[in-house]
Amino acid sequence: MNSRRTFLLSLVASAGTPALLASRVLAQAPPPPVKLEESDPIAMALGFKLDTAKVDAKKYPQHSVAQKCSECAVYQAKAGDTLGPCVAIGNKLVPAGGWCVAFSKKPASGKKASGDGVRN
Ligand code: SF4
Repeated sequence: MNSRRTFLLSLVASAGTPALLASRVLAQAPPPPVKLEESDPIAMALGFKLDTAKVDAKKYPQHSVAQKCSECAVYQAKAGDTLGPCVAIGNKLVPAGGWCVAFSKKPASGKKASGDGVRN
């Protein structure tokens, strides 16, 4: 009887362990990325628009329609993706055609970043 009890306890333990480990791994995994909405308080503070063509030109005179998330230095999407994480906004997903006041143009490929010793 004692060996039967031990056997049953070992069955329960072996069946429960992977499930317990899986639940712990899932509990520690980072949350899935969230799409940034214009109503998000951070988005509102940064004048974020899902479509760069809809930015208020009077409120943001520095804006141009050529400025969009896909051209921004902190946009982290892979080529061809229509949404990508924005480092400036907690890695929330922004559309390639979005815009906010934190826009900073990507350096042109093949050119050295500033600080290369060349003076203007
Ligand atoms: S910081 Fe750049 S990538 Fe992020 S929302 Fe603003 S314009 Fe888009």
